[in-house]
Amino acid sequence: MTATRDALRSYLRGREALGVPEVFLSGASRDDVLDAVRGAASHVQDPAPAGTDVGRIAREGTREDILGISDMENLRRVAEACSRCGLHSTRTKVVFADGPAEAKVLCVGEAPGANEDRTGLPFVGRAGKLLDRLLLSVGFSRSEVFICNVLKCRPPGNRNPLPDEIEACSPIMLRQVELVRPAVIVALGTFAAQTLLGTRDSLRHLRGRTHLYEGYPLVVTYHPAALLRNAGWTRPSWRDLQLARRIVDGDHGGSTLGEQVEGEPATNPDNPGSPAGSQGRLTLGGRDG
Ligand code: SF4
Repeated sequence: MTATRDALRSYLRGREALGVPEVFLSGASRDDVLDAVRGAASHVQDPAPAGTDVGRIAREGTREDILGISDMENLRRVAEACSRCGLHSTRTKVVFADGPAEAKVLCVGEAPGANEDRTGLPFVGRAGKLLDRLLLSVGFSRSEVFICNVLKCRPPGNRNPLPDEIEACSPIMLRQVELVRPAVIVALGTFAAQTLLGTRDSLRHLRGRTHLYEGYPLVVTYHPAALLRNAGWTRPSWRDLQLARRIVDGDHGGSTLGEQVEGEPATNPDNPGSPAGSQGRLTLGGRDG
């Protein structure tokens, strides 16, 4: 029942964020349904955390086991002990997430790089600092954003994740989304976008509009490591984050690329607080955050 209510609440939130607040029902008014959904959000009690068999789920838990974990702390404990795919044998640290569990913005990248594997934190390198500046340029400080990756352990040599690794690990990310309940998800890069949306479409086709992931509005943008290799993508990324900003602010009028704000950013995404107009002169990159 709880899962049904969560799904309904997510669905309604997503529809509302897309500017489609109406749902046609028979036998109940719109207010009746919204009251019930909002009431469920404030009264539903999660099962006791003590019921989570962390050791068993970390060893052999199914997707359903992961999705049934009731709180972020037990989800973290499962991830940090996880041996459900081969990456557990080569990782240094599990990179679970960074940021508050009540965040309005949830960013999802691909997988940890060398810096993340060493520190246990996502997006801590040069790409992470660029991401921080981009977020700040649209009014989101890093400390208020929940950041994670599809994979929690680093693939050796930053190779591409394998299908069985994605299948094993992605339920952890999905459960993170369900527990945070963000106003918007920002998919960073092709891999995260394609994995979350279940598509092989290119970033070019996926950017510039609002998608839905499990009922949550989702915006696609470049991975910050890609921006380090191509500074010309910084401004399009800023536009993508402007779209995320508008969704959080409840302004649904600009959900397509053609409606995005023209002109200069209010602040330079490469250096918030500085005048707009100068692109970054950053080079190199890789998956490392
Ligand atoms: S990548 Fe995910 S599924 Fe694989 S060992 Fe790490 S936490 Fe477990």
